[in-house]
Amino acid sequence: MTRFIDVTTLSKLVAKVGVTDFMAGMSQAVREDFVRWPQFDKSPRSACHSDVGVIELMPVADAEQYAFKYVNGHPANTALGLSTVMAFGALAEVRTGYPLLLSELTLTTAFRTAATSTMAAKALARKDSRSMAMIGAGAQSEFQILAFFSQLGIDTVRVFDVDRLAMEKLSANLAHVSGLTVELCGSTAEAVKGADIVTTATADKTWATIITPDMLEPGMHLNAIGGDCPGKTELHADVLRAAKVFVEYEPQTRIEGDIQQLKADEPVFDLWRVLDAQIDGRDSAEQITIFDSVGFALEDYSALRYLYELSGKLGMGRKIELVPEMEDPKDLFRLTLDHAATAHVSKVA
Ligand code: NAD
Repeated sequence: MTRFIDVTTLSKLVAKVGVTDFMAGMSQAVREDFVRWPQFDKSPRSACHSDVGVIELMPVADAEQYAFKYVNGHPANTALGLSTVMAFGALAEVRTGYPLLLSELTLTTAFRTAATSTMAAKALARKDSRSMAMIGAGAQSEFQILAFFSQLGIDTVRVFDVDRLAMEKLSANLAHVSGLTVELCGSTAEAVKGADIVTTATADKTWATIITPDMLEPGMHLNAIGGDCPGKTELHADVLRAAKVFVEYEPQTRIEGDIQQLKADEPVFDLWRVLDAQIDGRDSAEQITIFDSVGFALEDYSALRYLYELSGKLGMGRKIELVPEMEDPKDLFRLTLDHAATAHVSKVA
């Protein structure tokens, strides 16, 4: 039987493990898989675009397991009472194709994105980084902040969102976190000023330039997660040109990331090679580094295998009959007889 994890089960699982430990476990899973990058069969995700958003399929596999995620991105959804990003996915065994796990991935995506962001920042940001600007206070924001707080020691976060209510929601959600100072700001420039790390998680299907060259300061690290679709950006092109830019999977990021604004021969660097100690990350304390994150299928593979292992250990998740369990696998037709469905079949006259 296939294990099924719905949103409520995942929330309970996170509560049982604790947000910080769950995040740490997720980070470790993502990192373990990034350093064995060549073992994966990879491709850019397949995207179905419309005027208001995108629906994407993200497959990846190694010799043992295959994973895919279904995910959308509809920036106007929140006005309809729906999330901008919603996702689900599956993990299967390569040997037989049997689906091991079907899971919600909306909440999980927020965790795995934050885990990937901190994995990149640990490798690229200055080690003495303590403050972060958070631009965009929507669904991803608290996850990002808690990951940077717990894993990088960021203790001060200055937040800006064009939606005041979103900022107040963020502030209320994190009010109990002792040792973390959250300041709400009146503009992106105010939030970014003096920040060691700048995280952008805005959603708008437009060629936005949230961060402009005049906001840059020596030694900053930019964690840009919201520019993740053709025609949907956050960084001014000259911000990219002023920095050393790192990406997940270049063939996909060239299409979807902020670097879609660059020429094909303007260089970017593979994050996995830094993690595997094949290339350097930042070259000096003054250099500006950017993680141009778009979200890659491998991160969801890591998240799904982590969920599968963890839910198995904790005995959580429900067994569902997603594919047939039959005594004789060649007798698929029997499934129609078991509930007398053939009684309704009549010969065409
Ligand atoms: P959301 O809609 O919940 O929040 C986005 C927030 O951005 C909103 O509160 C909105 O008011 C704010 N915003 C829009 N334009 C702004 C501007 N110019 N300045 C300041 N704030 C602005 O969306 P979310 O789920 O938090 O996702 C944020 C972004 O991250 C989306 O673009 C999404 O596609 C992307 N994302 C990327 C990854 C990844 O792996 N890179 C993963 C998940 C989501």
